[in-house]
Amino acid sequence: MFDLNSPIEELYLVGPARAKLLKKLGVTTLKDLLFYLPRAHQDLSKFSPIGELKANEFSNVKAKIISVKSFRTRARRLTLTQATIEDDSGTITCVWFNQPFLSKVLKENETFIFSGKVTLSKNKLQLQNPIYEQERLEQIHTSRLVPVYPLTASLTQKQLRAIIKNYLDKILLPEYLPSKILSAEQLVDENSAIKTFHFPDSYQTLKAAQKRLAFDEIFQTQIRVLQYKKNREIIPSLAIARVKSLDEKIQDLPFTLTNSQKSSLEDIVSDLGKPFPANRLLEGDVGSGKTIIAALSMWLAAKNGVQATLLAPTEVLSQQHYLSLLKLFLNDGIDIALLTGSSSKINGNPVSRSTLIAQLKSGKIKIAIGTHALLEPAVDFAKLGLIIIDEQHRFGVKQRSSLQRINNAHLVSMTATPIPRTLALTLYGDLDISRLTELPKGRIPIKTLLVSEPQRESTYKFINDQIKDGRQVFVICPLIEESDKLGVKSVTAEYEKLSKDVFPHLKIGLLHGKLKPAEKEKIMQQFKDNELQILVSTSVIEVGVDVPNATVMIIEGAERFGLAQLHQFRGRVGRSTYQSYCFLFSDDPNTASNPRLNAIVSSTNGFELAEKDLGIRGSGDLYGTTQSGYGFKIATLSNLEIVQRSKKYAEDIVNSDPELNQHPLLKEIINSKPPIHLE
Ligand code: ADP
Ligand code: MG
Repeated sequence: MFDLNSPIEELYLVGPARAKLLKKLGVTTLKDLLFYLPRAHQDLSKFSPIGELKANEFSNVKAKIISVKSFRTRARRLTLTQATIEDDSGTITCVWFNQPFLSKVLKENETFIFSGKVTLSKNKLQLQNPIYEQERLEQIHTSRLVPVYPLTASLTQKQLRAIIKNYLDKILLPEYLPSKILSAEQLVDENSAIKTFHFPDSYQTLKAAQKRLAFDEIFQTQIRVLQYKKNREIIPSLAIARVKSLDEKIQDLPFTLTNSQKSSLEDIVSDLGKPFPANRLLEGDVGSGKTIIAALSMWLAAKNGVQATLLAPTEVLSQQHYLSLLKLFLNDGIDIALLTGSSSKINGNPVSRSTLIAQLKSGKIKIAIGTHALLEPAVDFAKLGLIIIDEQHRFGVKQRSSLQRINNAHLVSMTATPIPRTLALTLYGDLDISRLTELPKGRIPIKTLLVSEPQRESTYKFINDQIKDGRQVFVICPLIEESDKLGVKSVTAEYEKLSKDVFPHLKIGLLHGKLKPAEKEKIMQQFKDNELQILVSTSVIEVGVDVPNATVMIIEGAERFGLAQLHQFRGRVGRSTYQSYCFLFSDDPNTASNPRLNAIVSSTNGFELAEKDLGIRGSGDLYGTTQSGYGFKIATLSNLEIVQRSKKYAEDIVNSDPELNQHPLLKEIINSKPPIHLE
């Protein structure tokens, strides 16, 4: 006997060798097997008359077998089986190699369906190695919409289809969705959805099955996310209370906060006062001023005697945040540390890593800034109450999940890459979201121009004038090494050219990922201090870097960068009240028709560009969901209303029955999956 939980190695038709292959595909139980869905269907539902077959086409015929013979070829010592078949329109021969048993299976005068490639041999058409099925039995490999599975070597479509079909026929899948939802959403039941999805009768029923299974994915994700959220809300956090002097601190800033900065800060302050850990995402376009929000939140934590940490994806950015926070909190008596893979500093002074770790552990250091080096197990905090992740989309799932260790801390993530609405309501449904919807006052929109080679000289002249006015310039190049065959500008060659030939009178810096951290730091500092007028760099400065005096961004080989990346680069300028410019050079002769370059020229709004990017890339990999393993297999998330309604259903259930005890089948499904955000 078997049931849904039977291990596959115990199943009839499977056996140890196939069980091993199936396990490679993540299939360990019968249930996994039935939920191992085809990636596509091949339409073999229509038959071609034999008389109309053409060479090189994949065809499907229904025909009677006239004669069958098997014999050994002399030349290649193969067993050849030949069957001559016939329908109303003509006859053709089918050939198979090394399948001597076929002469017993293929019976003369019986009708079969054959699917395979038509080839031309000695001027005659034949069907080579076709799949065959007897007409009087049910067809699963031919004459229908045939499932095509993602496979691993040594397992064939035919074998897998046969195994799956066998069990689909013998098992009744239980329905876990309340009938109220089924009827409101006009969904077919789980049992028929799964069966139909494997072996549909028609595209129409396939569509209905798809709709149901897509709903399952979205709905189950909603349940998991809501449970995750609820579970977090019972974890006691370190409360961080508002202090009066926060207002003074805000007053003392060198600028006035924008309205959206004020309201986002209020959101966070109110989160921090709650007895359970916050989980908030702060979205704001490049240059909208997220750092100051992070800084003030950490300041508030420190004033409450609670430690706070700011994680940045690169050393360059960590260093920058560290310096700006030191400056902001100069007279506040707060110990601030920097920890990256290569440097450890406290209050501006280099210290040993062990000293720094000891002072985090004792609680003396209140604010720690750094890369994921801060997440290493050796780093221990006395009283960590607030974690802020800058450019959160840059952190891997693994790094994010190592935060679970400290899951009673308030968590604030910051990003310039907006989460599309449907995702915000599903996978990221546990997040509270605040948005910076405006740029600081006085910002002039950046002028973006596509420039061609003949305009290079005048562009350089323009740069020279900007520098004469006291401004600074970034030049971004795509690769480190010269790669002549691609014609890509190498950053070193560009640096040599600019400093020797074009701007010999200027001070120019070179920055790339292969430099030692101390060198990177020194060059960034010199650029910040305007000791260097031009910084030639690879994409290492893509995110976060803030040098407001820089007004020109030159991007070489611009067609080689993605849209989000181009927007990030451009966001390095336009951070002051000076007019800024972004010049895009391209080695691609078809520049003018490049949709990404056209998009970046026509819009400076990151949210708008994110939408366009989705349109250009055409589909699926929203917010890196595929690479982070959160991908939906069937659901496309394009239907906001379904997402909203499924969320409502999920809320009703989780709010009234958080442990899902009244929904045992649903509970079993949810519990069989790893916790959300840890997949
Ligand atoms: P991002 O959102 O890209 O991280 P930053 O936090 O780096 O932006 O801020 C961009 C620049 O704007 C910084 O130089 C910062 O000091 C400045 N800034 C932030 N908020 C304001 C404001 N309200 N008014 C003027 N300048 C601001
Ligand atoms: Mg930033």
